[in-house]
Amino acid sequence: MRIGATPEVVTNAAEPVVGWKIWRVEHDGGRTRLRSVLYGSLWPPGRPAVADCKKLYRLRHEAPDPLCECGIHLAKSLEQWRHYLSVGGDRVFGRAMVWGNRLEGELGWRAATAYPLALYVSATLDDAEAIAEGLSVYGVPVEIARAPAHVHEAVPA
Ligand SMILES: [Zn+2]
Repeated sequence: MRIGATPEVVTNAAEPVVGWKIWRVEHDGGRTRLRSVLYGSLWPPGRPAVADCKKLYRLRHEAPDPLCECGIHLAKSLEQWRHYLSVGGDRVFGRAMVWGNRLEGELGWRAATAYPLALYVSATLDDAEAIAEGLSVYGVPVEIARAPAHVHEAVPA
């Protein structure tokens, strides 16, 4: 996801912001976990996901970095993730909160720390019911959604 063509604004704010996110869902046996779509990082249940720069050939730095593309990407609208939703059969989407250091663009943020607030499992996924049940480990509301477009209309921003 691109977070916008305009220059990003560096924000170091304690106030969290809420936006849209999609994840890859890992579901085998008794274990259901969210992973980042861009880098595959695990979102651990019960504690914040912390950004870590996975770019090789760059000097180590804290994520997000203005000169890099790292950080947890959060969109201001679900629309920004449309491409990723259309290509993957293992996608879960929802709202997440980010806090700590972050960069703000026109379309979203790149942030240091995040946690999901509400999760939607597409009804088209195999095992949608079992995945929704497994995602309860995150301790946030989980719903089965008919289609992302439908939810986008139904959930107030
Ligand atoms: Zn980086």
